[in-house]
Amino acid sequence: MTIETLLPTPDIFSAKRLLCVQPHYDDNDIAAGGILTQLRQNGAEIFYLTVTNDLMGVIDDTLSPEAAAERLKRDQFAAGKIVGVSQQGWLGYPDAGEYDYFAVRRDLLKYIRMIQPDFVFTADPWLTYEGHRDHIAGMTRIASSDPTVDSAYPGHEIQGVAFYYTREPNIIADISSTWDDKLTAVQCYQTQFTSEGMDDLVMGLDLKSRQVAMGTDFERGEPLKTLHPSALHCGF
Ligand SMILES: [Zn+2]
Repeated sequence: MTIETLLPTPDIFSAKRLLCVQPHYDDNDIAAGGILTQLRQNGAEIFYLTVTNDLMGVIDDTLSPEAAAERLKRDQFAAGKIVGVSQQGWLGYPDAGEYDYFAVRRDLLKYIRMIQPDFVFTADPWLTYEGHRDHIAGMTRIASSDPTVDSAYPGHEIQGVAFYYTREPNIIADISSTWDDKLTAVQCYQTQFTSEGMDDLVMGLDLKSRQVAMGTDFERGEPLKTLHPSALHCGF
């Protein structure tokens, strides 16, 4: 018996139902748009859940919060169409603001129970050099924020967790075939990037996708840390 046979690293390419929890409107697509598009093409159903309202990233500060929120959603739907996202949800916690960790956790549990994903995608909460507090959220199975959901849906066991924005990947997904879709999706996020900022992001993604694919037989990759859910406990 080995740890690997006890807690096998789940096969992300077999995923059929993905809940992708992102701090901000654009994180899933920026970090994992390539692999998510590919999984969708393989028949997976994809749900996005955005935790914050992302209002701090909006470039045009003359917009009211309502108008800004509308534009962010417009960008998000345009990008989601390219990736093939089935459903979008929003928790609306204040971007870069004060919120209660346990409240977020209860809301996440509610969505995990309702959507019953086999995989949860999210930002690596242990990213060594992460400066953004909203990217540091945890997740386990306890009580959700909605008793009606808890009584209607049993506690849901996910098969695996996939962290993006990770410095410790255990797989590099080949995204060569979906790179163009990813870029097109990322470029939908106009509300939060100046054209210069978008050029820089695209250049960064371009370089990074090639860098992580070095030593493989493909051109572009996305790094992921995929784990058995129980590997998130007691140092497995
Ligand atoms: Zn973000």
